[in-house]
Amino acid sequence: MPELPDLLYVRARLAERLIGRAVTGERLKEPVVLRCTVRGNLSLLRGKTLQDIQRHSHFLVFRFEHLELAVNPMLAGRFRLSEPGDKIEASLAFALAFDDVELRYLDDKKMGKAYLLAAGDTSAIPGFAAGGMDVLSPQFSRERFVSLLKHRKDQVRVFLLDKRALDSIGNAYADEILFEASLHPKTWCRSLSHEDAVRLHDAIVKVMTEAVAEVERRAEPIDVKVRDFLKVRLRDVCPRCGTKLRKAGVRGMDAYFCPRCQPETRAGLVDWRKTGV
Ligand SMILES: [Zn+2]
Repeated sequence: MPELPDLLYVRARLAERLIGRAVTGERLKEPVVLRCTVRGNLSLLRGKTLQDIQRHSHFLVFRFEHLELAVNPMLAGRFRLSEPGDKIEASLAFALAFDDVELRYLDDKKMGKAYLLAAGDTSAIPGFAAGGMDVLSPQFSRERFVSLLKHRKDQVRVFLLDKRALDSIGNAYADEILFEASLHPKTWCRSLSHEDAVRLHDAIVKVMTEAVAEVERRAEPIDVKVRDFLKVRLRDVCPRCGTKLRKAGVRGMDAYFCPRCQPETRAGLVDWRKTGV
């Protein structure tokens, strides 16, 4: 799943290359990914100039005159800019041509969705109006975060992933943030002290800001997911203390954490320090 740093990077690269150019052709290979809330199909975009690309939550929204194409890549969706003569990928779902360059949307699982709609008519898109606080914006202050956290009754990792609260953190960065803040993923939000909450806020800002910079610095093609700099996600050993990392199921998701740096905070959780494993 592309996360916020990936989406920002992809958006910037696509914007550089495509904004101001007109669509000269289209192809739809996997109709299952496309939903049209206007009468017609992708050919409605032909001749229209791409005016802007915006990230909204986990969507990229391509704005044309009177029309928008909002794409949610979900689990496996990715974008690619292809040059003339590039072969067609097996996972190609649809493509828009802009003269000599083609914007391709690839999706191995076909779980992503693209919505073609009248400009501004986003009410028909499930999950679009999630409305979480942008964790990279100046408005995301310690004070606001602490007050947001105060009313939560769930586990801290579930809270981090809630797109209605925070815009937006996925599985990979949730693990990194909790590691940075030295918090066990199953900690109840209500058991966090003020100091814990402030530390968690600062960890979100630090981890996400650094990830945005690192993805940008690496300058990989936009369909490559840069994740090898992550410290705990899919890793074996804690980079801080050398302890074997553990995996815990949190609401059906795998959470990676260090049992020593992120000790459990409530009864009923396995205390790995005592097992001698
Ligand atoms: Zn550790």
